[in-house]
Amino acid sequence: MPLGWYDLKVAAARPRAGDEAVKRKTLNAAFDVFVRIPLVAKALARTPCYNARMISVEEALERILARVGTLGEEQVPLTRALGRVLAHAVSSTLDLPPWPNSSMDGYALRSADAAGATTAAPARLEIAGRIAAGHVADKPLTAGQAFRIFTGGPLPDGADSVIPQEEVTTEGTTLLVARPVKGGEFVRPRGEDMRAGESVLERGRLIGPAELGLLAALGHAQVRVVRKPRVGILSTGDEIVDLGGRLGPGQIPNSNTYSLTGQVIEAGGEPVPFGVAPDRLEEIEARFRWGLDSDLLISSAGVSVGEHDFVKAALERLGAEQHLWLVNMRPGKPIAFATIPSTGKGALPVFALPGNPVSAMVTFELFVRPALRRLGGHARLQRPVVQARALAAIPNPGRRRGFLRVALTADESGGYGARLTGDQSSGILRSMVAADGLAVIPGDSTIAAGEMVPVILLREVR
Ligand code: AMP
Ligand code: MG
Repeated sequence: MPLGWYDLKVAAARPRAGDEAVKRKTLNAAFDVFVRIPLVAKALARTPCYNARMISVEEALERILARVGTLGEEQVPLTRALGRVLAHAVSSTLDLPPWPNSSMDGYALRSADAAGATTAAPARLEIAGRIAAGHVADKPLTAGQAFRIFTGGPLPDGADSVIPQEEVTTEGTTLLVARPVKGGEFVRPRGEDMRAGESVLERGRLIGPAELGLLAALGHAQVRVVRKPRVGILSTGDEIVDLGGRLGPGQIPNSNTYSLTGQVIEAGGEPVPFGVAPDRLEEIEARFRWGLDSDLLISSAGVSVGEHDFVKAALERLGAEQHLWLVNMRPGKPIAFATIPSTGKGALPVFALPGNPVSAMVTFELFVRPALRRLGGHARLQRPVVQARALAAIPNPGRRRGFLRVALTADESGGYGARLTGDQSSGILRSMVAADGLAVIPGDSTIAAGEMVPVILLREVR
């Protein structure tokens, strides 16, 4: 693992003045700190077996998505299809509307019959029929005639236009039209919405209310959708007490399982919580085994290099191939992505997320969510990114790229204003609760007040 600035700070101890031995030691220590250790660290980072070079978020995502495919499909009733992903493209089987019809309550007529009509010299037409929605004319309209027609009523043969009832007068069975009428006026032509054979919905489309309506119009009582990814969620840590348990000395409540559960549901997956495993290799391995038939596994904590961090070792025992570990981001640097080979289906993707509540959530956003969306067949994997104006300075101290929690407000010009939600430590869940998005800021830099900053939108701005 490459040494960070914090290791160097620890190594630089102060000598007592005048003590030669201490001076020599200090020089040696300085040589170690500034020359030898960085050189060794650099060499190690380049050695593939350590797999510990810090990589960019983009490279990490590339490595992940290269190893995640889309799940198979299942059939659901149309009424249960909201929020699911279409597994097939859909083409129209009919012209909609199936016939030309009136878009107003009024009178159907031949536009030629009203050519040159004025208030002084209105066209006089014989009201010779009546068509309500759901009924068809029993005869064609002929020259000099008008048919009473209502919204949605099929246009009779012979007519080419409709004049709204507000614009005409009647004298008994005679209609008076006091202006010229254009051909096609107030008529919805056949196939105006869609034509038979036309492709109307693409594979991978998220089914929303409008899609439900369209599918119903085309007679799909059942819809083929991509299967929902089942996602095993495991929290680890001796200090973690789950809901319902009592906090003993040194213990903290489990929040990660629940934030991650919410994130999985939001991303279209089905969470399967596996509780909390203590920091013991066998226990963690056993819980991972429970989840081997999932479509994706997530663990939190225990993924660093501490003596009590067993997640990576447990994955190794399951034959997992590790594809990344350290990513250049803050919060959430140590995040492992591995695949466990399995028979019968593709390799099982596993994300070992860091334990700090915000690190776990942010690494989920950046890496797990796109993978989950890919599994679930979504065409769009990423959250939208908006440009926001910093309402106060947003500093990102430290070398790593920052994904900082910001609250957004709509500004006068219809754009967004962004402000940090507070303490950006990776354990401060409350500043995540207040966040509408994550501002993306290069390492060692500050976005000054008034400058624009890209923000990953986590939710609708209230
Ligand atoms: P670790 O990655 O194991 O070093 O854990 C980092 C920090 O995250 C520690 O302070 C843990 O107590 C905390 N943490 C780990 N798991 C959870 C959890 N499930 N819920 C809340 N905090 C956690
Ligand atoms: Mg731990």
